[in-house]
Amino acid sequence: MCRSLKTVVAVLIAIVACGSLAVHGQDRSGPAQPPLWLPDDEYLRWPLPPSEQAYASLSGRRIKGYINEITAISRRSRDDGNQYWGRITGTAYDRMTAEWVAAQFRRIGLEQVRIQTFETLPPQWFPTSWDVSVAGTGKTIALKTAFPIYHSAGIASTDLDPVWAGLGLPADFLGRDVKGKAVVVYGIPTPGGRSDSALSNGAVQRAEEAGAAALFIILGFPGNVTSQPTGGDRDPARMPVMMLGSDDGAAIRDMIEKRQSPKLRIRLTVEMKSGLQTASVWGVLPGATDENIVVMAHTDSFFEGAMDNASGVGTMIELAEHYAKLPNAQRRRTMTFFTSSAHHSPSGEEAGLRWIHNHMQSMFAKTALIVNCEHTSQVQTYLVGNSLVGSNAVSARRWFVGGSDRLKAIVASSFKTFGIAIYSRPETRPGGELGVVYTDAPSFHIIDHAIYHTDLDRAELVPEPGLEAAVRAFAKIIDEVNTVDMAALRVARVSDQPR
Ligand SMILES: [Zn+2]
Repeated sequence: MCRSLKTVVAVLIAIVACGSLAVHGQDRSGPAQPPLWLPDDEYLRWPLPPSEQAYASLSGRRIKGYINEITAISRRSRDDGNQYWGRITGTAYDRMTAEWVAAQFRRIGLEQVRIQTFETLPPQWFPTSWDVSVAGTGKTIALKTAFPIYHSAGIASTDLDPVWAGLGLPADFLGRDVKGKAVVVYGIPTPGGRSDSALSNGAVQRAEEAGAAALFIILGFPGNVTSQPTGGDRDPARMPVMMLGSDDGAAIRDMIEKRQSPKLRIRLTVEMKSGLQTASVWGVLPGATDENIVVMAHTDSFFEGAMDNASGVGTMIELAEHYAKLPNAQRRRTMTFFTSSAHHSPSGEEAGLRWIHNHMQSMFAKTALIVNCEHTSQVQTYLVGNSLVGSNAVSARRWFVGGSDRLKAIVASSFKTFGIAIYSRPETRPGGELGVVYTDAPSFHIIDHAIYHTDLDRAELVPEPGLEAAVRAFAKIIDEVNTVDMAALRVARVSDQPR
């Protein structure tokens, strides 16, 4: 009697606990967990030195507010029913983002604010609709995280036998007949959503050459993350290639291990859309001379794109607002702010940053510094057991400085002053959007890269203290560069630098 009463009480407690967990939208399978991602005020902050109080008004909180407004455009794209969602180049949401930036530039009081529309985008790859499920003994599981990688081929609804092929290395394919089957491999993040070991070890080509009908890459983030790894101009795959979250991948593997002879059902519709437009937004703060400082940020994104690249756009807006408050005479150089899109998809030569590189050489000839605002803050995460665990620290970033030793010293000392954690070595060539223009003028950026290109790239993983440290460091670099003549910032040709 006593024992059964205890059981009833335990069941009731479990029901109450489940109910309250459901209310908080947490995992219903276990006890309540503390949050993975901490609120902004829980992060460690680098103290602002007394000598740098001029930068105190540059605010991470304001940038976070901009990020929330920009990512709302992405969420609208998702809520409008787009499976391929975000601020995707060539869509209405790309245009909304450009209009949002233009409104900010006008609010701040920049001059010559304009939206430059490009009608020359090459055909853009769009996956418009898809469904993937796996069926084993008596059970069918919808694989909600299935997401086509950039330039995947489409396929009409087809049932395929899955074949587990480890990491997709040549050794994993030995003795396995994958012809006409769905190859399933595991991709170790290197370090995040855009790049994983299966992509870099050639698993796509290997599966194609072995005659596979489709390839699934499980992104090795714990949990069930949706990802879109690649960007830019790639040869189209000849077969469907899709990413999967770890939990969805484990569901397939489990059925294989239990010898259930599972079937993967896949359907994917892909279109190449021609005649789409994209835009750059421009704004100017005149200075005392016609030499200029360029501040740029790309606007397009997969998913919410809070770090990639709402963080950069917000950083640019905050810099513009800071400098707009100074009298013209206190700005040695004119400041030119612009955005670019078609960063994650082909722009061709006559749109996006390629157009700017091709047609704005007279501007770059008088550019003392290009400030690329891209992925300026991200939580430091760790792999612990079966979880991706957050922390109260901002992660170290990839970085690049192109220019004279004087410029390099200015950037390095500003990073130290404001507590910008960086990798121990710079990029040999800058990735991200700076890669298109770094030969045009002296330049620098920091660029984080773990959570991007995934549906984890949300504002809660973009800590405000990291945004604040970055924007203050950028402002200090701009101010110090403005004390130096252009010749002392440049090397003979940036492209001639030793790599
Ligand atoms: Zn980016």
